[in-house]
Amino acid sequence: MSDSRALAIEYLKQQRLLGGDAVILPGARGLGPGALVTAAEVEPTPAAASSPSPQAPAPSPGISFDPPSADLFAADPIQQTRSLEDVATLVAACHKCKLCDGRTNTVPGEGPATARLVVIGEGPGKTEDETGRPFVGRAGELLTKILEAIKLPRDQVFICNVVKCRPPENRLPQYDEIAACLPYLYRQIELVKPNVILAMGGTAAQSLLNTKQSLGALRNQVHRFRGIPVIITYHPAALLRNPNWKRPTWDDVRIAARLLDS
Ligand code: URA
Ligand code: SF4
Repeated sequence: MSDSRALAIEYLKQQRLLGGDAVILPGARGLGPGALVTAAEVEPTPAAASSPSPQAPAPSPGISFDPPSADLFAADPIQQTRSLEDVATLVAACHKCKLCDGRTNTVPGEGPATARLVVIGEGPGKTEDETGRPFVGRAGELLTKILEAIKLPRDQVFICNVVKCRPPENRLPQYDEIAACLPYLYRQIELVKPNVILAMGGTAAQSLLNTKQSLGALRNQVHRFRGIPVIITYHPAALLRNPNWKRPTWDDVRIAARLLDS
């Protein structure tokens, strides 16, 4: 199969996955950068295969949140951890909030310490609680596809949640539970030192940026957590309920992908 055909097929797959009735052809000849064409018109030239992605205008700067980093002399065991495995070991024994009562497994998060992207969700669901792994249910399958669409195999990303134990009946994590669990997330981010953080859904966005602003208000800006760029987007579970949000999610994820390389 020619490169251009393979490219066309890939775009059409992304199109189907992420919704919307337009396909973006990077720098397709004669169409100008970022030209929108319908699926039926997709006929990328070899030039399209080698052109860089169109550059949308950079979003404006948003909130900066800068909680203190680990104090290596502190007695707190979380601050004493030296690896993601150390953090997971503490999480496995954690009883700092009432979510420990209903859990089958803790779900600390997974991915390499060298990951350039950290993805943060809300909290484990049923499948995650059963397996001890983040984002392995239906929402997780969608997340995996979204990451593939920006050429990031899931196993190169550190994926985790704000709370590490499943809330009963998948209810929202409560304020005290989030407050108890956040130090683990802070330490994970500190150990991974990603180039970009993608916060999916209101709980992740508000917890990470220490704000009550709505997801809608927080999207479309580049926030900072201890200086690391933070992109906010919809939660994959919300996308399963409302496919209209797939297109804006795709826009957000592309911004995150672009920041990864900058
Ligand atoms: N939803 C989340 O927020 N996290 C998961 O791990 C799975 C579903
Ligand atoms: Fe500990 Fe977090 Fe689980 Fe609460 S949710 S018990 S703080 S690991």
